[in-house]
Amino acid sequence: MRVAIAEPGRFGGTCVNVGCIPKKLFSYAAHWREDFDIAAAYGWSVGEPRFDWKTLVANKDREIARLNGVYESVLVNAGVHIFRERATVAGPHEIAISGKIFTAKHILVATGSWPQVPQIPGGELAITSNEAFSLERLPRRALVVGGGYIALEFASIFHGLGVETTLSYRGTRLLRGFDMELGTRMAEEMREKGLAIHFGAEPASLTKSAGGIAATFGDGSRQEADLVMFATGRKPNSAGIGLEAAGVKLGPDGAVLVDRFSRTSVESIHAIGDVTNRINLTPVATAEAMWLGGTLFGGAATPVDHENVPTAVFANPNLATVGLSEERARERFGDVDVYKSSFRGLKLTLTEKKERTFMKLVVERAGQRVVGAHMIGPEAGEIIQGVAIAVKLGATKAQFDATIGIHPTAAEEFVTLRGKAAG
Ligand code: NDP
Repeated sequence: MRVAIAEPGRFGGTCVNVGCIPKKLFSYAAHWREDFDIAAAYGWSVGEPRFDWKTLVANKDREIARLNGVYESVLVNAGVHIFRERATVAGPHEIAISGKIFTAKHILVATGSWPQVPQIPGGELAITSNEAFSLERLPRRALVVGGGYIALEFASIFHGLGVETTLSYRGTRLLRGFDMELGTRMAEEMREKGLAIHFGAEPASLTKSAGGIAATFGDGSRQEADLVMFATGRKPNSAGIGLEAAGVKLGPDGAVLVDRFSRTSVESIHAIGDVTNRINLTPVATAEAMWLGGTLFGGAATPVDHENVPTAVFANPNLATVGLSEERARERFGDVDVYKSSFRGLKLTLTEKKERTFMKLVVERAGQRVVGAHMIGPEAGEIIQGVAIAVKLGATKAQFDATIGIHPTAAEEFVTLRGKAAG
């Protein structure tokens, strides 16, 4: 196929530029503080650790620039024509770029999403994750608003880097949609590490104050910080690119509506990734692209498969999950068996740290298939990725149990969970 791509910004999208990749690098940076404490318990003395934000940002920028280059050369080497400009859809087969019309058999919309912020007085004083990656300096006090992925990840990053951090969430349990126990336990672990969490707090206004920014909440409480960050969700980037005029239907949230083959209401226009607001994760968007490739050019209609998508929240501690929460499993299967374990990791036994690792398996009782695996603890993402293969393949609890553990690891707990939890 002859292919062209239009992108006015840097290649790699949110994930590479202001998402997954720089976030994970910052998360590594933030973990060092605890690692220094642990090292001391193992006999190391490294002096008083000091952290330099500018070094981290500069090194991160260099790595991201390298990745931008890698992405561009992948396109160039594949013979893709690059328009370094913004494009708009001008018809079922027409694209307008700088006043010129180009035609194509297929048009693919993969324009991603953008942070959504509460419309409150003074809201412009707050930043979003877009700006958090290139702050001039680290604040002394940060207020992070939200209770989802980005809020937990950035609150952990700021806290780990020594910023006095408060997380404020309008609800009473973090991570809505995840297994409920995870949200409750995550708050306990984060508080144990010294992060302040303010529940039932929806910001009503922000004002400049002598000492920084003052946030007033709906419950009447007030808090001052040097930096306020909204991590209150993202909305699809579907406005202003000619979609509706071309006949592409959007949902109430602005998402491009697609069928299971990622086809929009216009036969020749497809959409994938965050702009469709299905499961907004990079590997899912990549998979949607591969499935679409199969459908359009591979000779086999390939529907999307959004079942058992594993995911991780790179907060401190890490949290990862695959399959159904206990609540969803009960809705879907009625009777479920739940197995769980909470323990202090071996690495911490020489230290004063109280952090606990938590693991949970949800098993549908009739068929004994493991339909959900959940974890809070070090490297949860690395561990759940392996468990996800078994869950995707429909492994039973007996097959988990027949697997030999690797000792001593935390991960072995997933194959040695014996006692059913009550309830
Ligand atoms: P999420 O949807 O995960 O969380 C948004 C949070 O903001 C929720 O807690 C929500 O509360 C709260 N909120 C929404 N509107 C308001 C408001 N007006 N006032 C106060 N609070 C509000 O979105 P994120 O922005 O954290 O991340 C966007 C998406 O990006 C994620 O859902 C995920 O798909 C992806 N992502 C994935 C990551 C990963 O894989 N590690 C990392 C970062 C992002 P409530 O629950 O009450 O609605």
